[in-house]
Amino acid sequence: MFKIGIGYDIHKKLSTRPLYLGGILISKKNGLLGHSDADILIHTICDSILGALAEGDIGDHFSDSDPKNKNKRSTYFLKKILKIMQKKSYKIVNIDSTIICEKPKLSRFKNKMRMNISRIINLPIDKISVKATTSEGLGIIGKDMAMACKTIVLLKKNESV
Ligand code: ZN
Repeated sequence: MFKIGIGYDIHKKLSTRPLYLGGILISKKNGLLGHSDADILIHTICDSILGALAEGDIGDHFSDSDPKNKNKRSTYFLKKILKIMQKKSYKIVNIDSTIICEKPKLSRFKNKMRMNISRIINLPIDKISVKATTSEGLGIIGKDMAMACKTIVLLKKNESV
């Protein structure tokens, strides 16, 4: 039994905040505005898993009006969502993500992000894809005012042994 899920996220850039992607500190400035650490890659992974399980979205589980969630690392949300998935007896088959931004260039961070996600969700790195593209100067992402991310995930029901 397979289930597929999609996640989409966009955050405004904010020069004074650190940039976290895939649970990794990419830079100490030019990060993203948000209630948590605004890690769009982790947010879309969370939303894609919740989507596959038809369990709502990340905001339903971790409200941005709840002071408890302020400045929380998004990897904390992901770990909680993995528990929900495991309770429903599903595991991740593979994850495919695309980050859309003008700056910074992410090519040298892609493998680090994959490795970190692999460690958090306990899935081999060859099942985790992180891609990066630009918006070719078009729109708010192209003007470097925002970053976006899209993720798709495939889940499989655990076989009972
Ligand atoms: Zn977000």
